[in-house]
Amino acid sequence: MNTKKPNAELVWKQLEDLLVPRLRLSVIDRTVYAHLLRHTRLEGKLRLQFSIVWLARNISLSTGTARSAVRRLVSHGALRLVKRTRAGHVVEVRLPAEIRAMRLNRAERRAAARELRSRAIVYNEEADFVRDRSLRKAIHARERGQCFYCLRRTSSAVHCLDHVVPQSHSGPSSYRNLVSSCMECNVQKGEKPAVDFLRRLYRERRLTAPELAARLRALDALASGKLRPPLP
Ligand SMILES: [Zn+2]
Repeated sequence: MNTKKPNAELVWKQLEDLLVPRLRLSVIDRTVYAHLLRHTRLEGKLRLQFSIVWLARNISLSTGTARSAVRRLVSHGALRLVKRTRAGHVVEVRLPAEIRAMRLNRAERRAAARELRSRAIVYNEEADFVRDRSLRKAIHARERGQCFYCLRRTSSAVHCLDHVVPQSHSGPSSYRNLVSSCMECNVQKGEKPAVDFLRRLYRERRLTAPELAARLRALDALASGKLRPPLP
């Protein structure tokens, strides 16, 4: 077992999101586990010798309650009892990912791998969002039924995907360069730079000054990859 200090953030998330619901840990069991984890693995140690009195005092429990929590954690496989002497317990504390009940079954492993692969493809800067219908839908979903430029509501019958930097200027079909827009904006913008087109919408009073400012910010956010469409 690896005794290097683990990534505490990851461990904490696994504890909250997976371990507690999967093992149905009570508040007490979870507190005891977290306390023992903190004094072992988070310090880069595997084992701990402790007395039930020490444990109970540290987390304000009665000794009987602390003892039964340790027993339950041993039976769940979250702790491995190395020995029990009059001086106290020696246990090995397992990280959430090391606990047998936490290991993913084959179907779950496959699903996790699929999820990782699709994230990698989708959020890759070069991934083509035009080719796949579900990815096209994801761009429309990100704009929540509004034209990215003029903010009018667009129904699925009248919206289209617009390349912010036109394809004729080597604009890619990635999520950083595609927006959902109304047909009118798509046609009127044409080959013009998006910033110029937004300013024109403002001059024509189709956008207010705060709307223009917000659209220009959105354009920057888009280009820098901050507007990730929801995964299909
Ligand atoms: Zn529009």
